[in-house]
Amino acid sequence: MQYTSFQPRPRTLLGPGPADVHPRILAAMARPTIGHLDPLFIALMDEIKDLLRYAFRTENRLTMPVSGPGSVGMETCFVNLVEPGDKVVVCINGVFGTRMKENVERIGATAVVVADPWGRAVDPNKLEDALRAHPDAKVVAFVHAETSTGARSDAKTLVEIAHRHDCITIVDAVTALGGCELQVDAWDIDAVYAGSQKCLSCTPGLAPISLNERALERIRSRQARVQSWFMDLNLVMGYWDGSQRRSYHHTAPINALYGLHEALLMLREEGIEQAWARHHRHHLALRAGLEALGLALIVPEGERLPQLNLVSIPEGIDDATVRARLLAEYDLELGAGLGDLAGKVWRIGLMGYSSRPENLMLCLGALGTVLRDLGHGGDIDGALVAAHRQVFG
Ligand SMILES: *Cc1c(COP(=O)(O)O)cnc(C)c1O
Repeated sequence: MQYTSFQPRPRTLLGPGPADVHPRILAAMARPTIGHLDPLFIALMDEIKDLLRYAFRTENRLTMPVSGPGSVGMETCFVNLVEPGDKVVVCINGVFGTRMKENVERIGATAVVVADPWGRAVDPNKLEDALRAHPDAKVVAFVHAETSTGARSDAKTLVEIAHRHDCITIVDAVTALGGCELQVDAWDIDAVYAGSQKCLSCTPGLAPISLNERALERIRSRQARVQSWFMDLNLVMGYWDGSQRRSYHHTAPINALYGLHEALLMLREEGIEQAWARHHRHHLALRAGLEALGLALIVPEGERLPQLNLVSIPEGIDDATVRARLLAEYDLELGAGLGDLAGKVWRIGLMGYSSRPENLMLCLGALGTVLRDLGHGGDIDGALVAAHRQVFG
């Protein structure tokens, strides 16, 4: 067997993440590795924390990237804020809510589920009812941007309800961060986690988190020790907190953090509101184009995420055939449906650096021509023109 360097084909990533990584970020990651306690690196860590506060719209001191994918961000929040025996209300309207429940149960806590249909936002009235029925609940957890279904929940309202019932909140913002409005301080979110590879357009493997004073107080007043050594924030902060003498916890993924720094810098250069507006504009353009192709979005208007669009697969069209052809013929990746939606929908992500006009044109043109070839009629010309009009007026 002859082994050679791996040279991936450049693809256009319009699925649920990872999104396209900007060349500036890839270039940053190729810079020389330095020590994780090097003063130059410590200064970079401080900048990353500041830039993350900008992205999260927060002043929280404990704002930092956890070493690991979004799932590690999720688990970090749960293992630190939930103790065995606690009661946690988990809102489930897709795959990631289900994982939150799994986290709660593995800790030895009890999950009270507020269930909503896949493709819909979390219903605030159901949360209110659950909290009335369970006055001993301590934590409310929900997903702001459900990547499995393309639904956006009203985080501000859900947090308000939780606080009225003396619960702290854990919010999954993995797909939300950078792609749609997220206001950690103004909405008073207690603990939030995100991911590097969705609307921040960085490589996978880092999970920004932010916790407010209320969340920290809950960690301080724990009875039981955090059962994870790696994710125990008391220990992680010994490395990331600038007010202490930094000490070795684990070797930080140095070059990945160069990439995250560059990604956050680019977000700041663009402006966070401008990034939200860009995702929204391109979502409207995609919707206009899909309509011309005769394809419908499944999430009701008003609950749709701009950065992740669920499209019904037309009758008689085979999901896997279309995605395989898009990849082979156009180097274009769309996402498949998950769970009950498998085979019934495509997930079209326009996240971060992937959310650009040329990708809209590629997506609509490629999908339109492949569907035409498979016998599905659709106005390809009209789709491109409609999308162009939405973006450029
Ligand atoms: C992608 C995603 C995760 C998990 O992130 P990984 O980096 O894949 O571990 C969690 N929650 C949501 C909403 C996501 O979209």
